[in-house]
Formats: sequence, C-alpha cells, structure tokens
Amino acid sequence: MSELRDLYQEVILDHGKRPRNFGPLPAANRHADGYNPLCGDKVTVNLVLEDGRVTDVKFVGVGCAISMASASLMTEAIKGKTEAELRDMFQKFHKGLTAGDEAEGAAALAELDKLAVFGGVREFPVRVKCATLPWHTLIAALDRAAQPAKTE
Ligand code: ZN
Repeated sequence: MSELRDLYQEVILDHGKRPRNFGPLPAANRHADGYNPLCGDKVTVNLVLEDGRVTDVKFVGVGCAISMASASLMTEAIKGKTEAELRDMFQKFHKGLTAGDEAEGAAALAELDKLAVFGGVREFPVRVKCATLPWHTLIAALDRAAQPAKTE
C-alpha cells in the first residue's frame, strides 16, 4: 500500500510541477474562475463544449501542487465527455474525497481511474478543497455561473 501511495504522490507532484493543458483557450465557449481562500489557489477553466460534449479544455491558475495537479488531471480526464458524464464524475470525485465512510469514498474514486490518485488527500481535510477546486470551477463553467466558484 505504501508503494502505491508513493506512486500516487509521484503522479500528483509530476502534474503539479508540469501541468498538462495549461494555457489560454481562445476558442472556449464556457469558462469560470475558481478561488479557494483557505489556501489561495486560483483556477480558471476554459472549455469548448460542442453538442453537449467537451472537445477541448485548458486551464490557467496559480496555487499549491495539489490544486494544479488536480486541474491538470481533470483536464486530461474530461476531454470527450458529455456534460452529464462530467457532473457524474464531479459527484464521484467529491464523494471520494469527502464521504464520511472511507470504503464508500474509495469505491467512488475507484470508478475514476487515474483520478483515484487523490485518495490520499482524504487524510488532509484542508487539502480536500485544493483538490476539488478545479471541479467546482468546471461545474460553474457548465452552469455558466456569473459568480466565481468557491470551495466554501
Ligand atoms: Zn491549495
């Protein structure tokens, strides 16, 4: 288990240092800003949504390694997904990190393939908001929210 945990940490550190899909996306037709006041993380998610499906996604932002890694892995995971699938993934990710019952949380995360690397974050409640910020921001972009997404 500790080897697995090391591997997870490696993935998070790698994505935190070299975020994928980082940069502007001029063609975006949905976007939202997110802010996590607890840690100071800021994320802007830009999406191209065509016929209810994400055809491109990029993000920009500043923040801790966990927030940047979460945004990076999220952008990789959501390309090609439908809006309904994104909302389902958000529910699972959120439940995976916040469910009171650990087995229930682990089961939800296990359905998200690579995103399961964030399971270790459960042990650090303060960090949960860093990991979920990009997802809250994604949902705000889908909802065309006028207000920035917040983790509170
Ligand atoms: Zn953070």
